[in-house]
Amino acid sequence: MNAQSIAQASCADDYDPNSMPVDKARAFIHRFLEPVSATVRVPIRDALGRVLAGDVVSPVDVPSHRNSAMDGWAMRGADLKPDAEATLEEIGSSFAGRPFGGSVGPGQCVRIMTGGVVPEGADTVVMQERARAEGKRVTFAAGQKTGQNVRQAGEDLKHGAVALAKGRIVRPAELGLLASLGVGEVSVYRPLRVAFFSTGDELKSIGSTLGEGEIYDSNRYTIHGMLTRLGCEVLDMGVVRDDPALLEKAFRDASLAADVVITSGGVSVGEADFVKDLLGRLGEVVFWKIAMKPGRPLAYGRIQGAHFFGLPGNPVSVMVTFYQFVREALLRLMGADPVPPFPSFPAMCTAKLRKAPGRTEFQRGILARGADGGWAVAPTGDQGSGILKSMSEANCFIVLGESVGNVEPGTVVEVQFLEGMV
Ligand code: AMP
Ligand code: MG
Repeated sequence: MNAQSIAQASCADDYDPNSMPVDKARAFIHRFLEPVSATVRVPIRDALGRVLAGDVVSPVDVPSHRNSAMDGWAMRGADLKPDAEATLEEIGSSFAGRPFGGSVGPGQCVRIMTGGVVPEGADTVVMQERARAEGKRVTFAAGQKTGQNVRQAGEDLKHGAVALAKGRIVRPAELGLLASLGVGEVSVYRPLRVAFFSTGDELKSIGSTLGEGEIYDSNRYTIHGMLTRLGCEVLDMGVVRDDPALLEKAFRDASLAADVVITSGGVSVGEADFVKDLLGRLGEVVFWKIAMKPGRPLAYGRIQGAHFFGLPGNPVSVMVTFYQFVREALLRLMGADPVPPFPSFPAMCTAKLRKAPGRTEFQRGILARGADGGWAVAPTGDQGSGILKSMSEANCFIVLGESVGNVEPGTVVEVQFLEGMV
């Protein structure tokens, strides 16, 4: 990242903060994301879901010994004939974990099982389906090739080669790979600390009774869930009323305690005014109206060194803006490189969708196999940005680009698959 400040960058860019395209906002935020630098060594099981802070170099060859890829016999390839059977004498066996100690000479072979060490002298394995044993005399079919069915030492991974690169998110496969190398500990980035609070005079915490015009604060729960799934350390700061002094204190406390501060509500027109003044004093923040639905207002910046995301208040907008902007940013701050994107692919839309051109829409959809075996997607019903049920039922976003208008049934649309990613 260059040394340019957020304020300078936002002035230099030829964008309209009142109609900011989704891709442009994403790219803008991207420029200010440097991963946390502190690292910690952990036993590999504790590394699950975390990000490797350095390359893991293989301390061994994988496989460590030349071994057989088949159950069969090991011999010298030169003893086999291209166009006739060959009969050799079995002089011992090499099973996985119990190698044959000796050497295989001309005219000899060794019974071998998958994973068994290929003995000295031998260079070829014939699978048992191509052989006939009578006592210790074994006859092999014609047409074998020297070197076949032998896995060479270091064939999968050479001693000293990079087995896993810095930035890799550790999944079950990585745990197994590390274990297969005999690596018991790895260096990972420390978890990202994320503080969040909800703003709004109408919000009540669950457990209390609702007065007229009041609603339960749900955003703190979705945000808690989304952050926890990403492996962040969460700091839930509760509900903060729409009061400049309380908000100022909340922003100060949050930014001192965390790497990232996330708020919901209070960034829409009207409300944004005093929040704008406040954040202008505490740091550098840009306020955008993103050309998207749901999730129009979005604020991004830094407050006292912490990254700040001011999400809209509507519950669905919170989730959409989190997944479209915040998730990727947090993963980058956690050190992930590359950041795994949501799988996105075309699917046939089975219903009519209402859509106005000029903004990107993220409608909630249910993706399933269609009658023809291809992917088919249907909207979850009412798409209001306050209807959390539409998020709960959805397993994908139907992404309708800026230029797209109404969609007729049978049209191919782009979907972002959420299952397993959220
Ligand atoms: P705002 O962006 O603050 O104007 O909020 C937009 C809409 O989202 C309003 O209807 C709010 O009542 C609602 N809202 C804001 N914050 C929350 C929250 N934490 N939980 C549920 N709804 C909320
Ligand atoms: Mg509000």
